[in-house]
Amino acid sequence: MHTDLVAALDIGGTKIAGALVDGDGSLLVRAQRPTPAREGAEAVMGAVDEVLGELMASPLWGRAGSVGIGSAGPVDAAAGTVSPVNVPGWRDFPLVERVHKTAGGLSVALVGDGVAMTAAEHWLGAARGYDNALCLVVSTGVGGGLVLGGTLRPGPSGNAGHIGHISVDLDGDPCPCGARGCVEGIASGPNIARRALENGWRPGPYGDATAAAVAVAARAGDPVAIASYERAAQALAAGIAATATLADLDIAVVGGGVAGAGDVLFAPLRRSLRDYATLSYLRRLTVAPAVMGNDAGLVGAAAAAIALR
Ligand SMILES: [Zn+2]
Repeated sequence: MHTDLVAALDIGGTKIAGALVDGDGSLLVRAQRPTPAREGAEAVMGAVDEVLGELMASPLWGRAGSVGIGSAGPVDAAAGTVSPVNVPGWRDFPLVERVHKTAGGLSVALVGDGVAMTAAEHWLGAARGYDNALCLVVSTGVGGGLVLGGTLRPGPSGNAGHIGHISVDLDGDPCPCGARGCVEGIASGPNIARRALENGWRPGPYGDATAAAVAVAARAGDPVAIASYERAAQALAAGIAATATLADLDIAVVGGGVAGAGDVLFAPLRRSLRDYATLSYLRRLTVAPAVMGNDAGLVGAAAAAIALR
């Protein structure tokens, strides 16, 4: 049997998505379930099995040669386990072994969701054609992944490129991870909104106090909203500059909900990068918005399975 497809799973705190993906990155069959994130380990696995079951019922299933999983982290690719922060029932859950069993013995590749997004952007998106890339997901948290020398580099644990927990403020606020002054504590969506509120920004009549609402206010000229995005951009720039200085990067691709702020984020980000990425070999470093959108997780899980084959 010709096995030219990959079964991809994208596992997050709100939904579990699956697809059969072909060699061009097209999603031929899709399935999705809400994540029963407040329930026990077996209930969550039950939802994964239902998604897989739907894919396996497709006449195309016989062409699936492997399974790629992108999961909310942290993941432990070496052990084949996941412990997603927002799925408390799964701690060191043996996801690879369980999916291997459900999927009839196919080989299974596991990476973190930031690495999956990076694989997607490198395969078909904004990092295509760049051999040395850092891709970031700036959302409820801040994750990422690395392509070095033209190859996806998830590291032995599957978490390499997790830029959200680089410290950019040595004596900064404590981070839930245990360190201080992490990029995520300054640049994530909830922290952009929190800082704006603390400095006197007030949501509009509908009470929307999200980072997206702060972006709308910033575009309308609200100085507190602008300053909160500038601070987030500064933290991202410092983290990107540190990574680029170490790894000699060509491009940083920024996606996730916060990147939807557009120039409100990207203009100060490009300005701040000039302050932090100063060495001559970093002059070629460009910043681009991610382009793969909602399917990045699934396309990236497939790309990771192919890249790590
Ligand atoms: Zn941290």
